[in-house]
Amino acid sequence: MSRGASSLVGIRDAVTARRASAEHLTAATLARATGLNDALNAFVEIHEEEAIRQARAADARAALGGKGTGASGRLAGVPLALKDNICVAWGRTTCASRMLEDYRSPYHATVVQRLLDAGAVIVGKTNLDQFGMGSSTEHSVFGPTRNPWDPTRTPGGSSGGSAAAVAARIVPAALGSDTGGSIRQPASHCGVVGLKPTYGRVSRYGLVAYASSLDQIGPLATNVRDCAEILSVIAGHDANDATSLRAPVEDFAAGIDAPIEGLTLGVPRQARSESNHPAVTGALAHAEEVFRAHGARVIEVDLPHAAHAIAAYYVIATAEASSNLARFDGVRYGRRAALGSGEGLGALYERSRAEGLGEEVKRRIMLGTFVLSSGYYDAYYLTAQRARRLIRNDYDRAFEQGCRALLMPASPGPAFTLGEKLADPMTMYLEDVYTVGVNLAGLPALTVPAGFAEIPAASGRGASRLPVGIQLIGPALSEGTLLRIGRQFERATAWHEQVPSLIAE
Ligand code: GLN
Repeated sequence: MSRGASSLVGIRDAVTARRASAEHLTAATLARATGLNDALNAFVEIHEEEAIRQARAADARAALGGKGTGASGRLAGVPLALKDNICVAWGRTTCASRMLEDYRSPYHATVVQRLLDAGAVIVGKTNLDQFGMGSSTEHSVFGPTRNPWDPTRTPGGSSGGSAAAVAARIVPAALGSDTGGSIRQPASHCGVVGLKPTYGRVSRYGLVAYASSLDQIGPLATNVRDCAEILSVIAGHDANDATSLRAPVEDFAAGIDAPIEGLTLGVPRQARSESNHPAVTGALAHAEEVFRAHGARVIEVDLPHAAHAIAAYYVIATAEASSNLARFDGVRYGRRAALGSGEGLGALYERSRAEGLGEEVKRRIMLGTFVLSSGYYDAYYLTAQRARRLIRNDYDRAFEQGCRALLMPASPGPAFTLGEKLADPMTMYLEDVYTVGVNLAGLPALTVPAGFAEIPAASGRGASRLPVGIQLIGPALSEGTLLRIGRQFERATAWHEQVPSLIAE
């Protein structure tokens, strides 16, 4: 098997200059995706025919010098993967649930249309925790995705399939969605770059909704520059998403190499928790040093309400989920249970949902219904909304102190083993302690690889070397700055160039 994908920019430039054939590259990508799927289970569906058709179109455009084709060519011939909660009009969109096992969307998500218009080739759909609910990609009807750095461990989640596909260099980049950390935490656990854009920056039209006030689509890639290329294509106002922002979209790749000298970064006191894994503590300290050495000022800041983020998030996210997932009733979408004679509509709803929705999804729907129910609404939902405001104010205050970005771990530890947190939902939820605040506040955040945890061999298990990431959090619409800071960091450290050993095999 080949060593896998080169960078997005490298592929695009080679296809555009006709030094490489998109069709050839796509065929190699499809072979690699298929060849590694037994080991990783990163893909739930591989779109051979569609991908080859798109690749041929990219080659044809390149042959015409890109003229008169209406395509920007910014992603010419670049093979990409999509988390399987993003709709395409060919193939299925399952959300890794039984409910949508055979669901075919009649339309493309806006992001998909924009990728196609830029010349991208979509090779398949990646695994996720059912409807995006989870932190390990274990809550999938297709079985768990495995971490390319150590297949006995999870890739994180819920965009674990996208993170694993990029880490294994099957594709140079993929899209994920991030409601409470689902791009940034798997990026951290898989040693890749992941960006959660500002709420409203990227259209959610065609993203199957989990929690609509928190959901955002974003890219995962092997390096910061490639993330910037994707964001430049998918960002921007969309009339089909009422929450999408009208803010102008810059070329995020253009200013990315500018120095960061004189810039102030804040490290929240709360980021230095004693429960962090030593490798995470070490990575954060090392990152601070790197930034100082590049002329940035690093100050300590306080996010006094950070301790309430998990509680507020799991009330708000579940409340919104209980409402969003009410549409899966056996009538309009997906699975419809077979009824016995004399059974009515109530039985249809009940049975379809009982059969179609997974355990974690049901847990969340029940929790969300409870916190919204009269008598409990004020105590839970309203209180969580108040906490959300305070959490947002904390970030604003830190930015008012002059910080251009905050430096935080993306996750308290490296990737955990399969099954380790499945029995106890609370420990799974605590994976998100550093990520959910960003969604509650609607801010952009970028995870970059920042070091490794060396895990010694234990009884019955070999040693492993696992990546850890840090995240940079900025004010609304500061993606350009975050990408610039992240780019300087990766140039200085080159953590992102290390690859899992399966790649060389
Ligand atoms: N792990 C979080 C949850 O389960 C976040 C998921 C996400 O961002 N989609 O809700």
